[in-house]
Amino acid sequence: MADLFQETIKQRLQEAQFVLVGIGSEFAPSFAPMERDGFYAKLLEDARGREDEERRNQYLRFHYLTRRPDQRILAAYHELAELLDGKNYFIVSLGTDDLIYASGLDAARIVTPCGGFRAMQCSRGCHTDQEPLVMDENVQKELLASLDECAGDWDQVDFPVCAECVEPLWFNQISTPGYREEGYLPRWQDYTAWLQGTLNCRLCILELGVGMQFPQIIRFPFEKTAFYNQKADFFRVHSRLYQLPEELKGRGTSVAADPVDFLRTFKEGGQ
Ligand SMILES: [Zn+2]
Repeated sequence: MADLFQETIKQRLQEAQFVLVGIGSEFAPSFAPMERDGFYAKLLEDARGREDEERRNQYLRFHYLTRRPDQRILAAYHELAELLDGKNYFIVSLGTDDLIYASGLDAARIVTPCGGFRAMQCSRGCHTDQEPLVMDENVQKELLASLDECAGDWDQVDFPVCAECVEPLWFNQISTPGYREEGYLPRWQDYTAWLQGTLNCRLCILELGVGMQFPQIIRFPFEKTAFYNQKADFFRVHSRLYQLPEELKGRGTSVAADPVDFLRTFKEGGQ
């Protein structure tokens, strides 16, 4: 069954003038293996119940994602990059793991409104040199190195700190108190302008593993876009929440599949 859908999607992509892609929580890497890993398990345990537990967890997740990127998800992104090669596309992703930026996809055509690990910020609203975000790669490299060498002891970890108030920095993502939206808003403006340009054009919409988390960012507006653009083709791929609303019947296709596996097997399906 999945093969048939893959063939149809390939065809529609070829015909489309624009391709809109939504990526949801089924693309999120699992952090559960950290609990079974001696190094992370001890640090997670020692952070539990602390006032700054969530910030320490951000540091550990950043370390885990950098040192052990999920190869299964990366392979799916690489396949997506091949499918979209040469197309006029835009991707909206709910991800905060930033794996999508290591996939060969064009970062200028991706918006991640939930933030991620590419920038840091102060939770108190400080600006450093008029900038709300800290984009210094060295700060992040030093944090990684410090965690590498801490031997499971938080006291050995050098926290990156705000240049204004000297409080430890958080990553610029939605779980951060005082989340700074400056990290994604410029790209969001690009996205809305791009989307306006797709009106009355052949638009292929791929919604991959989105579900009902933050439905106002992808799920509902994508349905609306497909509804108002008579030339739109809409594909919703999800392992459980693949249903389409009644008014999109005929223009939309439900694919009941894990979107990561669905993408990874595109090559096989096409042979
Ligand atoms: Zn500060």
